[in-house]
Amino acid sequence: MNSTSLCRSRQPFLRQHHQRSRPARGPRSLRLAIFAGLVVAAAAEAGPSGPLPPPAVLNADELARTRAALAAIVQEPTVAGAPPETFKRVHAKLKQAFPRTFSTLDIEPIGTSLLLKWPGRSALAPFMLLAHLDVVPVDPGTEKNWKVPPFSGEVVQGALWGRGTLDDKSSAVGILAAIESLLEGGYTPERTLLVALGGDEETGGSAGAALVAATLKQRNIRPVFLLDEGYAVIDGAIVGVSRPVAMIGLAEKGYLTIRLRSQGPGGHSSMPPEHTAIGQLARAIARLEDSPLPSRLDDPMRSGLEALAPHMPGAQGLALRALWLTSPLVRHLLESKPATAAQIRTTMAVTMISGGVAENVLPEEAVATVNFRLLPGDSPQDVLDHVQRSVDDEGITIEVVTQGSSAPSRVSSTRGIGWESMSETLARVMPDAVVAPGLTIGGTDAKHFEGIAEQVYRFLPMRLNAEDLARIHGLDERIPLSNLDEFPVFYKTLIEIVNKNSHQDPP
Ligand SMILES: [Zn+2]
Repeated sequence: MNSTSLCRSRQPFLRQHHQRSRPARGPRSLRLAIFAGLVVAAAAEAGPSGPLPPPAVLNADELARTRAALAAIVQEPTVAGAPPETFKRVHAKLKQAFPRTFSTLDIEPIGTSLLLKWPGRSALAPFMLLAHLDVVPVDPGTEKNWKVPPFSGEVVQGALWGRGTLDDKSSAVGILAAIESLLEGGYTPERTLLVALGGDEETGGSAGAALVAATLKQRNIRPVFLLDEGYAVIDGAIVGVSRPVAMIGLAEKGYLTIRLRSQGPGGHSSMPPEHTAIGQLARAIARLEDSPLPSRLDDPMRSGLEALAPHMPGAQGLALRALWLTSPLVRHLLESKPATAAQIRTTMAVTMISGGVAENVLPEEAVATVNFRLLPGDSPQDVLDHVQRSVDDEGITIEVVTQGSSAPSRVSSTRGIGWESMSETLARVMPDAVVAPGLTIGGTDAKHFEGIAEQVYRFLPMRLNAEDLARIHGLDERIPLSNLDEFPVFYKTLIEIVNKNSHQDPP
């Protein structure tokens, strides 16, 4: 799937954005995840009605310390394959910036991750916050194109620049700054808080988040909810919705790659069979592309659209208010554009092909690679059955590439302490935003906690417009200081609200 270009023609529910074309950086891209979020926001008004108490406060020193901590760790290029000392220096810098946190909480290195535990007073199940400290590399050929060097952490024009400022080091320092501030105020949580800071999210999390998840499982610890990256506060993306939309991912798509292989007799091309291995493979690909997997308007998409309806103008809003009647039409409109189609079906993309060695030699083999992103509810076996039926050729073998594959997640609930606490937090911290559930297209570390955390949500308090989206994994990644300051406020408020709501919950 092309994650970086959005068709410029008319989008049914979207403003049009022109994205600079840029090579894809692998399946686990936050940009990809958020990009998809441009497409659909299932919007709902946040929190209880009536005036709300103000958000938590951090003083100027605490905010300055957060900024300085981010600058310090941006200066460490924590790319895949970086020496372990690079990560150790990051951990040391965080410890230096947030000394109370590192001396009060239980700190446990697990693989490339750090697991922090802040014990609560009660025996209630913990809640969990996730962030990652690794970053994608900067293409050496493009480094000179950055306005500010990518590992400088400099503040220029009111923003802190560098790789990781959007994805996802701001979240790590935001969480730690929130805890530090609460500790300085003498706060003790009711409910235990777990924080995992991953070291290899961008390459799949197998040596980081996956090991943390396995550790929790082994200890029979089941967080009541978990919050990771995956979506953000998107501005100006949805036609008719003038307010920013805070999208919270309730689920993420699965990932599956297969190879189609055909074989031929070889020999001289002067006496060919009716179809060569390449021709046979080409026919299989054509049949497959002509048989897309069926689309469907399930949750979180469906309830999302229904909730979005009041914010939509004119006919669009009317159509979304009556999905019981208009669902086939709406589905048809969503299917017509790649970005929206990806929200309602398992997508497939033929991404690689090889075969043949010389122009006058019959190919003995031809191979095509097909990448699928699975909608929640579709299993890998469902996809393989579909491929088999569509290709319908015994001469084509189908192989699964197991590396990197993941099943789609469950769909988390918009009820319960996690969702309600996040909604209440956003209503206080970002009262300008509309809260919206959605489906995350890209992968995150959160997927490793499937079946371990009861509910899994994907959201960062990061404000993005279409131009900012291209900076994630791209050129000139930077975060405005005004937005960076919202991170610790968001997490501090969230921790307080979760604990307040835990008091109200029966044990
Ligand atoms: Zn990330």
